[in-house]
Amino acid sequence: MAKEKCPVCGSQKFYVKDPEDEYEIYEFELNEGMVVFAERYEDCPPLSGDGHIYCNRCIWHGKMNELK
Ligand SMILES: [Zn+2]
Repeated sequence: MAKEKCPVCGSQKFYVKDPEDEYEIYEFELNEGMVVFAERYEDCPPLSGDGHIYCNRCIWHGKMNELK
C-alpha cells in the first residue's frame, strides 16, 4: 500500500475538525495508510475519503483521497 503523506511537507500527522465545533480537533497519524488517533478520543469523527483533513505541520489541508 502506498504511503499517504502531506503533498507539501511529507508529514504523516494530520488532524480533523469536529464538524460541530471548529475549535475541537482530533489529531491522528497515517501509519501504512491506517488512521491512528493520537489519543483515545471519546467521540472520533468518521474519516472518509472525501473528508476534510489538515496537516499538523504546514498549511496544507484537503481531502483524504488527495493524499499521495
Ligand atoms: Zn504538510
